[in-house]
Amino acid sequence: MEIVFGRVDDSIARFTLSGASEASANALRRAMIGEVPTLAIEDVRIYDNTSVLFDEMLAHRIGMIPIKTDLSRFVRKDACKCEGVGCPLCRVIFTLTVEGPGTVTSGDLVSEDPETAPVDTNIPLVKLWEDQKLVIEAVAYLNTGSEHAKWQATIACGYKQYPVIEITDQCDGCGMCVEECPRAILEVKGQTVRVVDGRLEVCSLCKLCEKACIGTGIGDESAIHIKADKTTYLFTVESDGSLPAQQIVEEGIRYIRKRSDELIESLQEISMEGQ
Ligand code: SF4
Ligand code: SF4
Ligand SMILES: [Zn+2]
Repeated sequence: MEIVFGRVDDSIARFTLSGASEASANALRRAMIGEVPTLAIEDVRIYDNTSVLFDEMLAHRIGMIPIKTDLSRFVRKDACKCEGVGCPLCRVIFTLTVEGPGTVTSGDLVSEDPETAPVDTNIPLVKLWEDQKLVIEAVAYLNTGSEHAKWQATIACGYKQYPVIEITDQCDGCGMCVEECPRAILEVKGQTVRVVDGRLEVCSLCKLCEKACIGTGIGDESAIHIKADKTTYLFTVESDGSLPAQQIVEEGIRYIRKRSDELIESLQEISMEGQ
């Protein structure tokens, strides 16, 4: 298997996975969605809430705020040496005290750790009127999306099969497929049609071009054929800001490798026992 990054920055990673089966591509997708750890608020103590929202609704909204996470500094609570009591290695405490009138936002959460804060300070939590008040303590822990969506580091994570476009000698360059293509993939060049430079990966495999070609009366078989390469996949991974997009990819791969190693070890133990 090989990964080649096309675009990568903190918010989005686009890459090609080649030499892989569909099952492997899907395993990577699922690992990036469900098995990459990130911080999210889990425990909320509400000391005062005279806003229009119930405590439970507020706690839910606070839990969904993405939090900037440095994975090198935190461990999961169940794996921490504090044995689940809570310490700076496995938790971050936030406090919030706001009096109305005004809108309470994620930026009102004050973190005990200056490097661990909400990704966006403008996420609205609740609107307070005159004399309404909110006093909250919230504790964030590390966990994964398979436990709850609030620990999911990706807001979009998916792939498509790599498009393969073939044009036969039957093509007369009439241009009907070019007009039909919704993504401007094709162009007429001389007496034939071809893929516009750099546009192949944008093809959605919709096959409207094939239908347009048949519609020209060319016969039973289109002069353009759209296929999918079953061993190459185009991935798009968008981060919610808690982790850089490339780190989400790396952590997803690390998880698959770890689970594969564990499986191999278990199989070796079973085969040793059977001898
Ligand atoms: S399959 Fe769809 S997107 Fe791709 S070239 Fe044909 S019409 Fe365009
Ligand atoms: S519609 Fe068919 S014949 Fe016309 S340009 Fe496209 S592939 Fe060629
Ligand atoms: Zn701890």
